[in-house]
Amino acid sequence: MSRKFETEAIRTQTERTQFLEHSTPMYLTSSFVFEDAEDMRASFAEEKDRNIYSRYSNPNSNEFIAKVCKMEGAEAGFAFASGMAAVYSTFAALLESGDHIISSKSVFGSTHSLFTQFFPKWNIATDYFDVDELDGIEALIQPNTKILYAESPTNPGVDVLDLEALGAIAKKYNLIFIIDNCFASPYLQQPIKFGANLVIHSGTKLMDGQGRVLAGITVGDGALVDKIYRFARITGPALSPFNAWVLSKSLETLALRVDRHCENALQLATFLESHPKVSWVKYPFLKSHPNYEVAKRQMKAGGCVVAFEVNGGLEAGRNFFDAIQLLSLSANLGDSRSIVTHPASTTHSKLSSEERLAVGITDGTVRVSVGLEHIDDIIADIQQALER
Ligand SMILES: *Cc1c(COP(=O)(O)O)cnc(C)c1O
Repeated sequence: MSRKFETEAIRTQTERTQFLEHSTPMYLTSSFVFEDAEDMRASFAEEKDRNIYSRYSNPNSNEFIAKVCKMEGAEAGFAFASGMAAVYSTFAALLESGDHIISSKSVFGSTHSLFTQFFPKWNIATDYFDVDELDGIEALIQPNTKILYAESPTNPGVDVLDLEALGAIAKKYNLIFIIDNCFASPYLQQPIKFGANLVIHSGTKLMDGQGRVLAGITVGDGALVDKIYRFARITGPALSPFNAWVLSKSLETLALRVDRHCENALQLATFLESHPKVSWVKYPFLKSHPNYEVAKRQMKAGGCVVAFEVNGGLEAGRNFFDAIQLLSLSANLGDSRSIVTHPASTTHSKLSSEERLAVGITDGTVRVSVGLEHIDDIIADIQQALER
């Protein structure tokens, strides 16, 4: 990237039309027209790089993709209707029946369900490694292993995985290394620097940042993205131009917003650490985090999510949620509004309690997505709820 992150986020823009608009217009069109028969033939033969149909590409999606590619240092990308459409299509495009995946145990709930409920019916198996035992990965590798997959920081345990170490294993065994970078956003962490071949985002979270649209994107190595594009243009998970327009605007302020999210989150985490009713707090940029050094090395700041446990388990947890006044009880994250979630009864309720414990979720675990309200108000609400 020649220019700085913030500048590219604002100045990467679709070519102006004849109206010389300053801000990119919305291209709400399902298809595009051809000049003549030869133009039509050449376009479909892919002799020309141009928009044909919005299931394949659209100027608004292209702008969004171009920005994320610059932010992540990627060659190419494809934008999807949701984060899960990106996750599913990425795997489906790259894997054959009989292939094997190695994944971190701690992945987004729906991604976990994809591995356990759907991929087995296409004869695709998955083995899992513990987030704090990267040494165990090599023992899981089989001749048919194709993909090494992880998220960092993880949801909702906020564990941090050493991306450089993962990248080295993937390289040694010639695996496709894929990182879901949603929790960090491209502003805080660029996994391609550590050897990732592909990076996936749910654009629904920090990228939109205001809880309005669903979106997903996969960026990375050009040849791999081309395979994903070929799959997606046939199967149809494309991002709508409207959502792409919203997202591209949102990315203009990503750096500003994420800086404030992280400042607020660190302040809240520090407050919680000293509170007598809190048994533990996890936040990547707290010195007490088991992988604080790794987080410092690979992330610019700690992100918007803080996890903690209220003393007294499930019952105390429920009382805490009922006492919350300002913050939202919701399942989303990365929103300008602060959100509190109880993973054991919501996002991770489909897992058994042993499976939950294995990914660091106790019955009393609270996940806070720290928003952009004034930090004094965020802390005051959590404090009164703890002390009730
Ligand atoms: C939310 C999320 C997803 C899925 O994204 P959607 O846009 O909800 O489909 C995938 N991975 C992570 C880490 C997420 O937080």
